Amino acid sequence: MKDQKTCPSSICIPGASMLGVVDNSEEVIFNTVEVKIDKDMAQELHDEFGEPEKHFRFSNTCVESGCKQWKSGQCSVINIIIKANEQQDIPEDLPDCLIRDTCRWFFQRGAEACKYCKYIVTDSIENQAQNQINENQ
Ligand code: SF4
Repeated sequence: MKDQKTCPSSICIPGASMLGVVDNSEEVIFNTVEVKIDKDMAQELHDEFGEPEKHFRFSNTCVESGCKQWKSGQCSVINIIIKANEQQDIPEDLPDCLIRDTCRWFFQRGAEACKYCKYIVTDSIENQAQNQINENQ
């Protein structure tokens, strides 16, 4: 699909990609090579970690209005995070990231999104709606 964007905070399901690893200080270390998640790997990660989204960040196709985070034609997640943290002195950061060309958050908020991105751990419960949509695609 033309102009299709990528969700940078998706869940661990077949068809997703692993965007990065959450380290001990809860910061994301971004992958430098694409790691696609197939059915076996998704199962292994769930078996080992229970909630792999707490240990890794996953990307997948942005399903826009098919996701419950979609509000007023945008992904509400990054807008809420920026608004809640804009008083904090967080340094500019544009990490090497494999999905910047299509990233939904970067498309909406530019480099400001990248500044906060590495501190974001996906709430897999919040993303259940997206899960169901993706599994049905
Ligand atoms: S917000 Fe920036 S760092 Fe985060 S996934 Fe998107 S392009 Fe990459």
